[in-house]
This record gives sequence, C-alpha cells and structure tokens, in this order.
Amino acid sequence: MKKDLSLSALASNAPIINDYDPNAMSVEKAKTWITHFLHNIDQKESIHIKDALHRVLANPVIATMNVPNHDNSAMDGYAINTEQLDEQGPFSLRVTGKLFAGNKLEGTTKEAVRIMTGASMPSDMNAVIPQEYVEVNEDKITFQTKPPAMQNIRRVGEDIMMGQTILQKGRRIEPCDLGLLASLGVGSIEVYRRVKVAFFSTGDEIISLGTPLLSGQVYDSNRYSLIGLLKRMDLETFDLGVIPDDKKIIEDTLKKASEFADVIITTGGVSVGEADYMKDILKKIGEILFWKISMKPGRPLAYGKIGGCHYFGLPGNPVSTMVTFYQFVREALLTLSGQSPINPVPMIKAKLLTPIKKMPGRTEFQRGFFVQDHQGEFKVSAIKDQGSGILRSMTEANCFIVLPESMGSLENDHWVDIQLFDSLF
Ligand code: AMP
Ligand code: MG
Repeated sequence: MKKDLSLSALASNAPIINDYDPNAMSVEKAKTWITHFLHNIDQKESIHIKDALHRVLANPVIATMNVPNHDNSAMDGYAINTEQLDEQGPFSLRVTGKLFAGNKLEGTTKEAVRIMTGASMPSDMNAVIPQEYVEVNEDKITFQTKPPAMQNIRRVGEDIMMGQTILQKGRRIEPCDLGLLASLGVGSIEVYRRVKVAFFSTGDEIISLGTPLLSGQVYDSNRYSLIGLLKRMDLETFDLGVIPDDKKIIEDTLKKASEFADVIITTGGVSVGEADYMKDILKKIGEILFWKISMKPGRPLAYGKIGGCHYFGLPGNPVSTMVTFYQFVREALLTLSGQSPINPVPMIKAKLLTPIKKMPGRTEFQRGFFVQDHQGEFKVSAIKDQGSGILRSMTEANCFIVLPESMGSLENDHWVDIQLFDSLF
C-alpha cells in the first residue's frame, strides 16, 4: 500500500507538541515539525568515486581486503631480526641486500637488509632500524640499542581489516573517504540521487540582473544568495527566476515545479501584506503550515506540500531569507538527501566585545565577527547594522551570535553562543 505522505496524515502521527501556536512558534518547535514530515529520497545510483565528493552513501562499504595487504617498512633504514641479537649492544651486522617499495627480495637475508619505506618486510626479519640510528661502514652497519620486535613495521590490516565496515550508510563522502575507498580498490559506490530543488523569487518590485532599475524596484538578490547556499550542498537545482505577484502565474509555476522537483523554495510573499499570496495559493493546490516564528530576523515561514513535493516559503528580506535557510531548510535538505546522522551545527562560546541590544521573546541570530585572541579565547563583536534588509551585515560577519528567546540586552564581556558561517555548509 502506498504510504500517505500528506501533511494531515503525517501530522496525525506527530509527536504531541504542547502549546502549538502558529503565531508564536519557537525555532526548535518549527524544526521538530518540519523534520517530522521529511524522509530521505530512497533512489540510488552507482557512480565513480571521483564524482562522489559530498554525495551520500546508500549502502555501507565493507572491506574485502586488508590494507596494507603486506607487512612493510614504515621507515627508510635497515631490516633486521632482533631474535639474532644479544641483549647488549653495540651490534654490528652485514648488509646483504637492498629493498625498494614494490620490489621483492630473492632468497634469505641473513643479517641486515637496506630497506625503503613501503617495501615488503623480508619474511625472516622482524624490525626496522631507521637509517639515522646506524653508522655505516662499507657493507656493515653498527647501532647501539636493540629495538623491540615489530618496531617500525606497518602490519597487515593495521589501516583496514578485511570484513570491517569502513563507511556507514548515510555517510556524506569527504575527501579522505575517496582515498580510503581507492586504497581498498573500490572504484564505484552506490549513493542516493541528488535532491532536486527548484526555487524562485516573488515580487512585482523584484528585477532580474541585466535590466536597468526604475525607481521603486530592487534587484533580485535572494535568488543569488540561494544559488550560493544550494551550491555548497551538492544538490540538483532549478533556477526558475523572478515571478511577479500574480496568483495565476505563481500557482502555475508551483504546480509545474512540483512535478519534477523534490523541494520548492520561494522567497517573498509569505508576510501578511496584500500581495503576500503564497499561503492562499498553497492552500488551494496543496497543504500549508504557516508560522510566525519567534525569531529575528525571519519571522514568517511557510512549510507545505504540493503532492509529494516539499515547499519552503521564506521571507523576502534578504537577511531573513539566509537566516531561515540556514536554520530550517539546510537541515531539511540534508535529511532528504539521506545523510545520517545529521550533527547539529556546533555552537562555540565567545566573549562579547560590544554590548548587544535585544528584547526578550524571540531567538535572535545577530550577525557577528569573531576572532581568536592570543590565549585562544573566542571574542565576538556584533555588526553595527542588524536590519533584516541589510545584507551587508552578512558579508561583514563571519558568524551568527545566537541569542535565546529569554535573553535581554547584554553588556561587554558576557559569554554568548556563536555559529561559525564556515560550519554551515
Ligand atoms: P516580502 O516578504 O515579499 O514582503 O518582502 C519583504 C522585503 O524584502 C521587501 O522590501 C522586498 O522588496 C524585499 N525582497 C523580497 N524579495 C527580494 C529579493 N528576491 N531580492 C531582494 N529583496 C527582496
Ligand atoms: Mg513581496
């Protein structure tokens, strides 16, 4: 039987969230709601590992061999057999051969063998003395101390053991994983297909690049911020441009996009102004949850569904668009992509270098600039202009100063939580 993924069906199984109030939703509650409606897109594809950076693994990877697959030298030096040595040095041994990585030594080795890093250990040797610790005299080496057995030997399977699960399903592939897979001889892997995200801006006053601005118009900046935000997440994106505040055109665009996209993101038109149609249209063609989040910036937020397609209606103010994307949409997209676990964005404690003005009642994401002082302590200053239309505040900042709902204004030297922009890919 096909699973009923409608909001009403899913909401009936939702964890009971006390005091649900769409006019004053906390950031955490809104996140919990959204998460409840999301499932990863369970469609897989096989790709070569060189194309796999930041893709999400759909099956665990189990090692079918040992890495390394032979005991080998960790140093440039001399392979010896400690069992042939007395307890007390100095020791003097004859060097009877030379071993390079990738080559094999014929026959037995007797006393000592010159060996390079990565070369297979001769079967009758059990330690390597680094060349810095020996004196060489013609074909003899002399050294003072007897090394313990297995010194400076990289053992079979010490990196990866055959049968070991080295990457879990849901893992977002990092550069090191590509190398690790290659070390196992794995050339292709199964990943979830990319999440398809369509997005457009709304507003009669919003103008695309390339057209001269008339008085009262603004260039569409949100779509470009979104392009950047989405690019960092490795998704399949569909830029649908700017749509005027016209119910019919918006409705048609949403319907069409819902046929090919997994997610639609719009900016603007979710406030309570007279041209803010998104809520009405979504009600007509799908389902909508519309919230006034107790956060600043980014008060209005809409989440809905059109058929199987998820909808995020972000507020139009340029800083609000970015903040709501970071706080709600980013994590939702990660969930849809199949990534698991999704670790929360790290919060770091920093000391305020500037006072902060805030009224209790909303979570604020003020833009800040942090530095680390000579003692290693994080210090943060709030950017001077904090208006939700001042996009420059994002460019001047390198972190959010996250101020909880109950908090009021703060003096210098107060400790606050910050989220580094660099941790918000
Ligand atoms: P709205 O959410 O549609 O009421 O828009 C709120 C404010 O954000 C208005 O001042 C809009 O002009 C502005 N705005 C909306 N969309 C964009 C956009 N794509 N680029 C720049 N500013 C925008
Ligand atoms: Mg508008």
